[in-house]
Amino acid sequence: MTTPADPHRLVRVSIAKAAAAGRLAAYERVAVRRNETHLILPLAAIEAVRAGRPPGTLRRLLRGVADAGGGAASMIKTRLGIDRASDAKFQARLDVCRACPGNLAQLTVARKHVTPPTPQRRDELIAAGAEVHTCGPMLRQQKKDTGKSCGCVLREKARDLKQHCPNRWWPGD
Ligand code: SF4
Repeated sequence: MTTPADPHRLVRVSIAKAAAAGRLAAYERVAVRRNETHLILPLAAIEAVRAGRPPGTLRRLLRGVADAGGGAASMIKTRLGIDRASDAKFQARLDVCRACPGNLAQLTVARKHVTPPTPQRRDELIAAGAEVHTCGPMLRQQKKDTGKSCGCVLREKARDLKQHCPNRWWPGD
């Protein structure tokens, strides 16, 4: 008989390793600076570890992280130095997204998310300082086809060595 998989194990192990290595502060700084709601649960889980809160509190927080999707768990572990791509690999991956062969990258332009209609327009926006956000058109199609969308943020996904471009266009994919 096999033991059922523990969906929170990755997060729990990642947080414990980071606590042991003293890397929690770096993750917290990023979460607070970006003030993004999807970072709040991971941050709260880390705080619970730091404060030695009761296991029940931590379990509830980890359930929330797991419910928020694989992206939250991936973000926690890379922020904590686990499966974390080097800066060179991270930039090489994002460079492919910035020139995505399918023009699938949604960009962030002046805090708004924009899907460039053509590769030429994308190149102009990137040259003007825009940054890639998600695989926007792909996510919209996925939502239409399945009613679900993962919404992975490319800047986070590219940091995780265990993640891949869905079209395997990243170097080494
Ligand atoms: S992850 Fe792949 S499909 Fe998505 S924007 Fe980057 S290169 Fe394009």
